[in-house]
Amino acid sequence: MLTMNRRRIMLGAVAGTAGALAGAPFAPAALAQDARPPAGNAGLYRFRIGEIAATVVSDGVIGGPPRVYAGDAPEAELEAVLRQAFLPTDFMTLNLNTLLLETGGRRILLEAGAGTTMGPNGARLFDNLRAAGVSAADIDLVVISHTHPDHVGNLSTEAGERAFPNATVMVPRADWAFFVESEPDLSYMPVPPEFRQRFAANIKRSVEPVARHVEFYEAGAELVPGLSTIVAAGHTPGMAAFLVQSGNDQLLLTADLAYHPVVNIDRPWRPGPDRDGETAAAARRRIFDRAAADCMLVLGFHFPFPGLGRILRTDTGYAWVPSGWQF
Ligand SMILES: [Zn+2]
Repeated sequence: MLTMNRRRIMLGAVAGTAGALAGAPFAPAALAQDARPPAGNAGLYRFRIGEIAATVVSDGVIGGPPRVYAGDAPEAELEAVLRQAFLPTDFMTLNLNTLLLETGGRRILLEAGAGTTMGPNGARLFDNLRAAGVSAADIDLVVISHTHPDHVGNLSTEAGERAFPNATVMVPRADWAFFVESEPDLSYMPVPPEFRQRFAANIKRSVEPVARHVEFYEAGAELVPGLSTIVAAGHTPGMAAFLVQSGNDQLLLTADLAYHPVVNIDRPWRPGPDRDGETAAAARRRIFDRAAADCMLVLGFHFPFPGLGRILRTDTGYAWVPSGWQF
């Protein structure tokens, strides 16, 4: 499915060897000179999925009024639940947990992150990739779950060029048709009209430089060996969840089936920006039930960093159980 030229295959192989020889998860010496570690705490988290080296790479955070992310929650209950979780009642922070997969000399990034499209606290991806010893030019493939700005924002540089110059970008076809090829009616989104306009314009601007390099997929397809997509439409017309498998290990990346576990898993409230609420709710149940039945490791793109945990089936619904930190 992927076309890779010889030079890129060799680069991948060399980088893979250097990493294995060093035996340590730090940047190779050649990268150390320009490696500016991001300020504050680490924005990357390494783990394994069978033979695949996986790293959650943060693009920072976005957020907004909790009401947006729990569209059908009764006001008093929403406030009580947020207080009980020691969360602010006037603002909900959402993380941007992209996932880097390194396998067979190839580097795959799941989700591109928001960049500067959704406020001043995104656009940490490239610093954090650098801290992981990876440059934007090293990425061979970027797979997008759906084309909202917080998932495609980093595809374009500020100058309007391809931010990942050597990467194929894969996008669900139905989202491209809806958000990119047409002027979508976003009146279903519970946000002010100016926000909607900016939102729509930011999508087009972010994907413009990759338009000639994009490959489309239908949710449900296997994209590369070990990486499958699961139909999760409803939030957007084409949204996919990702299933990464290697040996007996698997990881489910839930995209925007849930924004925050406190309101969308522990409570059954629906994300306000779901375009088709009924279809989205059915996808949520179907995929959460599967995750719970198989005790899958789950990565929530917007969950508190690093966003890993499991979904438990309870008598009344579901519960989020975060994974312990691995040193
Ligand atoms: Zn999102």
